[in-house]
Amino acid sequence: LSAVVAAVRAEKRIEVWDDGRLKALTQDADGRVVGAVIARGPNGHLVEITATAVVLATGGAGGLFAATTTPSALKGEGMALAALAGTEILDPEFVQFHPTAIDVGLDPAPLATEALRGEGARLIDGEGRFLLGQADDADLKPRDIVARAVHAARREGRGADLDARAAIGAEFPHAFPAVFAACMRAGLDPRLSPIPVMAACHYHMGGIAADADGRTTTPGLYAVGECAATGVHGANRLASNSLLEAAAFGRRAGRAAAGEMGGGRPLPVQIAPDLPADALAELREAMTAHAGVVRTAEGLATLIALIDRLEAAHGPAASLLAARLIAQAALDRRESRGGHYRADHPETAVEAAHTRVRLARPAALEAAE
Ligand SMILES: Cc1cc2nc3c(=O)[nH]c(=O)nc-3n(C[C@H](O)[C@H](O)[C@H](O)COP(=O)(O)OP(=O)(O)OC[C@H]3O[C@@H](n4cnc5c(N)ncnc54)[C@H](O)[C@@H]3O)c2cc1C
Repeated sequence: LSAVVAAVRAEKRIEVWDDGRLKALTQDADGRVVGAVIARGPNGHLVEITATAVVLATGGAGGLFAATTTPSALKGEGMALAALAGTEILDPEFVQFHPTAIDVGLDPAPLATEALRGEGARLIDGEGRFLLGQADDADLKPRDIVARAVHAARREGRGADLDARAAIGAEFPHAFPAVFAACMRAGLDPRLSPIPVMAACHYHMGGIAADADGRTTTPGLYAVGECAATGVHGANRLASNSLLEAAAFGRRAGRAAAGEMGGGRPLPVQIAPDLPADALAELREAMTAHAGVVRTAEGLATLIALIDRLEAAHGPAASLLAARLIAQAALDRRESRGGHYRADHPETAVEAAHTRVRLARPAALEAAE
């Protein structure tokens, strides 16, 4: 990351706005994306940019969940704004939950890396019983299975802890300095006590449908990194390959976007309102409760009713649309697959199928025709 930042800063033709927030994508009468509206500075004054291509790299959607390991600024807004431009959204229900976020009341929750379990740290409940059984490799199952075990232990009131005392002990500060520092900041010494853990939103496999060059279904619009759904992560990303995807596909998308030409006059576009802080907090709690590790039709319907209510009260915020895309697709997928687990449909369908969502064409484009 520091190498990329240094290269960008050194390139005179790249202008960096640290204070910008994407509010809308602009389109010409043919539907081609021809720019973006950015809110800048503390007052959020709107600036419209025109461009031959727009590349979205807005990350995941962890900020839509109360329990998350990602920064709260990541609210799926790029996905929502792409959807509003009529772009195909792929498998938005595929969200990954990490089993060992450290539960010390921080937002985002610090991560107790899987490498701790690789070194022999064990998941136990409050009584010291193994959560996933006694075998040495019992805790090394895929993320969704371990996340459900942690989630179940907490729901049953047994608690869930990662015990690194025997396996790592005094080596902790040298072997895992970042995790050690996070624990110590919260007043917890992992050499002496087990680390309280919870399952938390960690990665969005779904998102803006994009091909191997980052091209979306909307001309002029590209998506790379976690906001894109290239399909490479299926329904359950394997650890440590999202940065690889971002680098490989980002390079290809940059080259393809640089070759774009043309585009007509941008049509006027609707600017989505922001969700007030208390409404966002309510949404995040409901997303973790109903679109989290374990989902049911009943819970997802409750969540969608809340999204309806918040939208009626506060307008069509991009974060609400992102939450709706995830919740509706999770309701419609009546099976369990990877990170998406339906307690009322625990089986995996024999035939794997994608969810493809495409919203109606924007009103401004309809009017222009
Ligand atoms: C704790 C943790 C550990 C991880 N460890 C690994 C690992 O070891 N290996 C690995 O491969 N992956 C790991 N991941 C996943 C990986 O970090 C992410 O998938 C990756 O950083 C995504 O990169 P990105 O550039 O797509 O998005 P991000 O790095 O999330 O950047 C997105 C940017 O877009 C900005 N943004 C969002 N919305 C808007 C908007 N409306 N307007 C303007 N800007 C906006 C955000 O503020 C942010 O700066 C980890 C993730 C977490 C949370």
